[in-house]
Amino acid sequence: MTVDCQWIEKNLEALFCDTLSPEQNRIARAHIESCDSCGKEVAALKAIDPLVKRYFQSELDRALRVRVAGRRLPASRFLGLGSAALVAASVLLVFALRTPPQRPATAASSSVQGTTESQSSEATPVVKSTDAVNVERAKPDASASVEPPQTARAAAATNENAPQFLVTDPAGYSRTLSDYRGYVLVIGVLNVRQADSASNLERLYKAFGSNPKFRFVAVSLDRQPRPAETTFPVTYNEGSTLFGAKPGDFVLLDQTGSIQLRGSLVKDYDSLFKRLQEN
Ligand SMILES: [Zn+2]
Repeated sequence: MTVDCQWIEKNLEALFCDTLSPEQNRIARAHIESCDSCGKEVAALKAIDPLVKRYFQSELDRALRVRVAGRRLPASRFLGLGSAALVAASVLLVFALRTPPQRPATAASSSVQGTTESQSSEATPVVKSTDAVNVERAKPDASASVEPPQTARAAAATNENAPQFLVTDPAGYSRTLSDYRGYVLVIGVLNVRQADSASNLERLYKAFGSNPKFRFVAVSLDRQPRPAETTFPVTYNEGSTLFGAKPGDFVLLDQTGSIQLRGSLVKDYDSLFKRLQEN
C-alpha cells in the first residue's frame, strides 16, 4: 500500500472516524507527520474538532438514551452513521475554506490537489502560503469561518460569548469595564420611547457627576442621537449583554465591577439616588 497526499485526501473521513486498519492508520500518520501539505490539512480539520466532539457527545448521549429506553437500535451503528455524516461535512467545509475565492477554481479544487503535489517544486510555495492562510481562517469556528472576518466579529458579539460591557464613544474609542475599575459606575440604557428615563439619568448625572468617585455612561443600543437637553456621556453598544439591562434600565457597579443595584431608571429612580448618596 502506498500512502501519498492523494490517498490521505481520499481517506480523511476514515482517518477521522478511526475506521482505517491499524496498518493503514500507522502509515497514514507517518505520511501526515512528514508531509507539510497534509499536516496542514489535518490541522485545519482539527481546528473545527471541538465542534465535531460536541456533536459526537450529543449523538452518544442520544444513542445511549435510545438504548436505555429499550429500543433495539444498536448504539454504535446509530452513532457511526451520524458521525460519518458529520465528518464528511467537516471535510467538505475544510475544502471550502481551502479554496480562496480570488483564485481560479481549477487551481484549488480537490481533484487537482494530488497533481499539484506531484508537480515540480516551484509550484509548492504558492500552495503552502494559501494553506497557511486557510488554516488560519479555519480556526475560529465553523460558522464564523464562512464569513469575512469583519462580519464574523459582529456575529460573534451576539452569541453566548458576548462581553458584558463593550461600547464605543462618539469618537470611536472602545470602552470596557476595565476602563471604569476604581469608580462607581452608573450604566443607563437609553430608551427612545421613554423620555423619563433619560431625564432621570440626567438628574442623577447633575447631582453626582461632578464627584470624582462616579462615572456615568448612557448606552444607546441603536445609535440614536442623544436625547434632548441631556449632558451625560453617550456611548454605543457593541453587541455586549449590558448585564441583561433593557432600554430604560440602569446597572450600578461598585469599584470592583460587581453589581450593587439594578432596575428601572423610572420606577427605581429613588433607590438608585439613595444608593448613590450612600457611596
Ligand atoms: Zn501529503
